Amino acid sequence: MKRINVIIIIFLVLQALLFAYWFHRIQKQIFETRPDTVYIRTVPPYDTLMPAQLMTQLKLSDQAVMATLFQQSAAEYRALCYQAFAAARVMLDNDLNDKSVDSPRAIIVDIDETILDNSPHSAKCIINGTSYPAFWDEWCDTAIAKAVPGALEFLNLARGYGVSVFYITNRKAHLQEVTMKNLRQLKFPQVEEKHMMFRTGESSKENRRNEVKKTYHITMLIGDNLGDFSDVFGDKLVAERTKITDSLSQMFGRRYIVLPNAMYGDWEGALYGYDYSISDSAKHAIRYESLQAY
Ligand SMILES: [Mg+2]
Repeated sequence: MKRINVIIIIFLVLQALLFAYWFHRIQKQIFETRPDTVYIRTVPPYDTLMPAQLMTQLKLSDQAVMATLFQQSAAEYRALCYQAFAAARVMLDNDLNDKSVDSPRAIIVDIDETILDNSPHSAKCIINGTSYPAFWDEWCDTAIAKAVPGALEFLNLARGYGVSVFYITNRKAHLQEVTMKNLRQLKFPQVEEKHMMFRTGESSKENRRNEVKKTYHITMLIGDNLGDFSDVFGDKLVAERTKITDSLSQMFGRRYIVLPNAMYGDWEGALYGYDYSISDSAKHAIRYESLQAY
C-alpha cells in the first residue's frame, strides 16, 4: 500500500473517532438536561427513610399551602362556587315546577367549606406547623368565617320561595352557639335551633338526613364531601369512591351540589384507610405513593 493511502486511512479513522466522541458528548448533555430524572422518585418505607427529625423540617402541614392558597387566592375557586350555586338555582326551579311534590320542601346543606370558608384556620395551622384539630375551636369561636361565594344569595333565594333550610354539620355540639352567631351575622336564613343538626355522636349524617326526610321533600343536598350526600361513600377507599361516584354521575348537578375543597375531606382520609392517627412520615409516604406519574 502506498504511504499516501495509509495516511488517508489514518486520517479518516481519526475523523470517525472524533465524530463518535462529539456525538457521545452531545447525547450525554441532552440526557443530563432532560427533566425525566425529576420524575424518578423512590418511595421511602413508612417511618424509616423519613425520620422524625427530617419531618419536623419538612412539616407535613406545608403540603396544605397550595390547597389553602387555591381557596384564598384563586379567582377560579370563587368561579367554581358560583357555578355550583348557579346549578343549584336550576335545580331549585325544576323542583319548584314539579307539581307532584306534595310535602313541604327542604334543602339540606353542610356548613364547612360549603357555606363557610375556613381557609384562615388552615392558613393558621400551616404557619404554626400543625393541623386540625389544632386551633379549630379557637377559630370557630371567632365567628368571623366568610360566606362561600354564592351560598348566601342562593339559600336566601330558596327561602324566599318557602323552601326550608337544614344545616347538617359535623361540627360538634359545643360549637353550635358560635356557629349560629357566625351564620346569623352573615344573614343566612333560618339560623334557628331546630334547623341546626350538629354532630352529637356518629360522623355519618344519614340519621340526621332521615330525620328531615320524615317531614320534608328534599329538593337537594349541598356539600363539599361525598358523605354530605349519601352513606354509600362511607369508609370507602379511593378506588371504590371513584367507582361509586362514576356510577352516580347522574346525581351531580341534579340532586347533589358539590363545592370544591382541596384542603381536607374524606378524599384524604380514604388515602390512609381513614386512620388519621398514623405518623406524619407515614402520611407523607402514602401521599407520594398515591401519586400517579406516567
Ligand atoms: Mg364540609
